[in-house]
Amino acid sequence: MSATRVRLLVMNAALGPLDYRVPEGVEAPYGSVVVAPLGPRQVTGIVWEEEHLPTLPVPESKLRPLFSVLDVPPIRAELRRLIEWTADYYVAPMSAVARMVIASGGALRGPATMTEYRLSGGMPERMTAQRERAIEALDGEQATIRELAGLSGVSEGVLRGLVNQGVLEPVEVDVDRPYPPARADFDAPDLSPEQAEVAERLVAAVGEATFAPFLLDGVTGSGKTETYFEAVAAAIAAGRQVLVLLPEIALTQAFLSRFEARFGAAPVTWHSSLKSTERRRAWRAIASRPENGGAQVVVGARSALFLPYAALGLIVVDEAHEISFKQEDGVRYNARDVAVMRGYFEGIPVILASATPALESLHMADTGTYKKLVLPSRFGGAQLPEVHLVDLTEEQPGRGAWIAAPLRAALQDRLAKGEQSLLFLNRRGYAPLTLCRNCGFRFQCPNCSAWLVEHRLSRRLACHHCGHETKPPETCPECGEPDCLVACGPGVERIADEVAEILPDARVAVVTSDTIHSPAKAAEFVAMTEAGAIDVIVGTQLVTKGFHFPELTLVGVIDADLGLEGGDLRAAERTYQQVAQVAGRAGRGAKPGEVLIQTRHPDAPVIAALASGDRDAFYEAETDNRRHAGAPPFGRWAAIIVSSEDEAEAREAANRIGATRPFLDDVHVLGPAPAPLALLRGRYRYRLLLNARRSAELQKVIRQWLGGVDLPPGVRVGVDIDPYSF
Ligand code: ADP
Ligand code: ZN
Repeated sequence: MSATRVRLLVMNAALGPLDYRVPEGVEAPYGSVVVAPLGPRQVTGIVWEEEHLPTLPVPESKLRPLFSVLDVPPIRAELRRLIEWTADYYVAPMSAVARMVIASGGALRGPATMTEYRLSGGMPERMTAQRERAIEALDGEQATIRELAGLSGVSEGVLRGLVNQGVLEPVEVDVDRPYPPARADFDAPDLSPEQAEVAERLVAAVGEATFAPFLLDGVTGSGKTETYFEAVAAAIAAGRQVLVLLPEIALTQAFLSRFEARFGAAPVTWHSSLKSTERRRAWRAIASRPENGGAQVVVGARSALFLPYAALGLIVVDEAHEISFKQEDGVRYNARDVAVMRGYFEGIPVILASATPALESLHMADTGTYKKLVLPSRFGGAQLPEVHLVDLTEEQPGRGAWIAAPLRAALQDRLAKGEQSLLFLNRRGYAPLTLCRNCGFRFQCPNCSAWLVEHRLSRRLACHHCGHETKPPETCPECGEPDCLVACGPGVERIADEVAEILPDARVAVVTSDTIHSPAKAAEFVAMTEAGAIDVIVGTQLVTKGFHFPELTLVGVIDADLGLEGGDLRAAERTYQQVAQVAGRAGRGAKPGEVLIQTRHPDAPVIAALASGDRDAFYEAETDNRRHAGAPPFGRWAAIIVSSEDEAEAREAANRIGATRPFLDDVHVLGPAPAPLALLRGRYRYRLLLNARRSAELQKVIRQWLGGVDLPPGVRVGVDIDPYSF
């Protein structure tokens, strides 16, 4: 690099690389985050290697000088390579990937202090339940308004009121103050011999500090977390940072408590709802080495993968099969796969932990690309639950009911014994469809091709795709009849009503992202369940993983066929994973567990495999299916999604792209056809599917193809490599 000029990757997808002059006396090595003039405005950019970012050179005399180099450590080469790889593999602009690294700039600039609040000792003018909760939650500590809202479950508005009344007083704190240190040896458990063997391999890999991908394949309750914690401890002891990716924020709370019990301090958390000051603090801590007060362990959602760790030594992807690791808009990446690539560029081990690994991951393990570590039995001698099918073609629950006689009896039996039950149905709300019994009118979302879901607890009709909401009307909006609206089909709220009819004395909790919307709510739910204050949990996929309730001995799956209906490639695998995970919640303590699976297709291979517990048979059959279909891991899929607010414009654009399709031996193009959600958030969507051989240069083909098509400005084209649902 010449000392006087630099090339920038700028944080604006519409702009290519730009060259600038470095003013005298200023240092701007590769990776520096800088601010530069652009016309009358400013852009943020990262200083990049010229040869990785080719563009037409600008004559020396035309170069404008940089404004400033920001006071953050330069983005390291390892991460620059990951940005390039991600952009290349997912056919996305490099700037869009880089924006995830610098977290939209919010992390970079801002005051050096932030405001936290503590109790002044004064009392509010009038005590309310909410105010009391806020004061109790603070418990002599101090926190930002945002943190306190999360801790207490009280709205920020109420908290601001307490600030105005002088009950909470502000304290200015340094943004760079360190997080409480985690200690590798705080409270280490005694591992079982099989756990110890696995832990030893992982700890050794952390010590070697070279790229090593592991598939930690262990049945539910085998102690996967306990085991990989040893590797986390080794990294902490070595002064390296650890990233643990979790699929669901709702799970974080239970995980954080567990982490704190093991390491004596909570880890740094990273997710989309962090407020800017916490985001800034976390980002800066992550970019500093632990010996300088930087973050040691980060627990986060998929976006934590792109942060600028100063000394990353280990990545763990827990529940690695989870579909929520797949980002579905913007840069459509799969965090599980990018985690492995980050490990590759950083030269560190990566652990994918799951009781039901994705077929792709198992294939990688079986072909020797990943090292497979197995925990075949539950910890402490707990048995895997017994699984029985309830054939709904024989055991019909009756009109307006979904719980068949065997499951009813089992629920009654557990309640009588004082044990807990869990009913699983992956449908939020009361009913998936509401219609008029008089004229047949159905409530549909105005922005999406989807029905509005009735939520009775919160009295609203809601679209689960765009968030559109209305109050349920008294009369039919079409024919004007009063009292004519009927709910069709079950959601968890309706199942909870049915449980209340069967077991009038039972204490029932509905657990979905609607009811468990904050860490405080999650903690409350866990505490109540552990205290035995809940008899029956009715929940969506939110309850299928992570939770460990020793008194829970019965799991009922309301409709195992639900996920199989879509007919998409991964439907069977996803059904297997979901049901196996939720089944894994039963009998984790001393008492044995039982699982009842309601189905209309007891002979379907996936259902039969769940009943017999023969996971290998299922995976083998599924592998054969995939091989014949040329599907992953044997072939590859990609989707091109063309959308516009105007239906005709979207269709014409999709046809235009379709007309210029390449004809190749190793890449086949299907479509265009309306996408599965043909209208989403007000945009009409068409889709082309590409099926390619493994050896095909799929990304290159797509880039060349799309690069040659001119489209109107209202049309968006998105590329989805390795799509999840189609
Ligand atoms: P998994 O992640 O495989 O589902 P967990 O790590 O959650 O399993 O372990 C299941 C339960 O068993 C947890 O409550 C955990 O604390 C406990 N457990 C597992 N291994 C040990 C151990 N070696 N010592 C004490 N408790 C353990
Ligand atoms: Zn909608």
